[in-house]
Amino acid sequence: MTARTRRSVVEQSKGTGMSRIAYVNGTYRPHREASVHVEDRGYQFADGIYEVVLVCGGRLVDEEPHLDRMDRSLREMRIEPPMARAPLRLVLREVLRRNRLHDGLLYLQVTRGVARRDHPFPDAATPPALVVTAKRLALPDRETSEKGIGVITIPDIRWERCDIKTIALVPSVLGKQQAREAGAGEAWLVADDGTVTEGTSTNAWIVTGEGALVTRDTSQAILAGVTRARVLAIARMNGLEFEERPFTVEEAQSAREAFLTSATSFVKPVTRIDDRVIGNGRAGSFTLQLFDAYMDHARGAGT
Ligand code: PLP
Repeated sequence: MTARTRRSVVEQSKGTGMSRIAYVNGTYRPHREASVHVEDRGYQFADGIYEVVLVCGGRLVDEEPHLDRMDRSLREMRIEPPMARAPLRLVLREVLRRNRLHDGLLYLQVTRGVARRDHPFPDAATPPALVVTAKRLALPDRETSEKGIGVITIPDIRWERCDIKTIALVPSVLGKQQAREAGAGEAWLVADDGTVTEGTSTNAWIVTGEGALVTRDTSQAILAGVTRARVLAIARMNGLEFEERPFTVEEAQSAREAFLTSATSFVKPVTRIDDRVIGNGRAGSFTLQLFDAYMDHARGAGT
């Protein structure tokens, strides 16, 4: 057995002894057989959008806001929805079931379909292509989370429609790799005016000296995170003060606390920004309160 086959056997058997199953344009297939056409416009032009939905205890967390955002991304890209919401919900549940997914994520991708390569849209009869995959994920434990992660800051070199969740992710790929090579967990992207827009795949937050939560207001400069909206709702419910506004790298570096959010990062404490330690170098009390409240919500006990 080659190292590669040995690895793929191990990957297939992780957890349940089953292989992973993907939904590809109407059929459910084992991953090794799941593929799209060479002229899929996602492959050739990154002409598509995606969503990542957290699965906690076999339940989709914030499914409707994710599907709402997916519809919005499709509208902005002028791609037809591949199917109505009710059958799509059934497909998601079937992918969960076939993968026996308890904790993890569902990845949904829609592209403008398969057509002879040409930049303008293909003719209206070309159906969009839909792929859904599942991945296992360990939920974070509080003790590890308390240590926090470091982030680096790098220029935001992305385009001017970061509100659309497109699959064109090269600046994020390069940024995340740069973070990894620097021993950090994320890169925060900095606009020309010195303000932080967001992370490569997360929204950025700080807590001011006065104890107010701050995260950038939604605009075409950032993705309106579903976790961001959920954490704001939790803050509102708990009477925490918050401000939706841009903040600079300097303000973040002298903040009392910092953290980031996303469907698969949850609420993650940030304890270093470049070479500056935040607070006492451990997760702060606001962040941990939000971490607990968000995990309660994800587990189905909360809002
Ligand atoms: N910002 C960017 C650029 C992202 O890619 C993501 C998630 O992938 C987020 C923010 C967080 O969004 P959500 O909370 O919906 O996962």
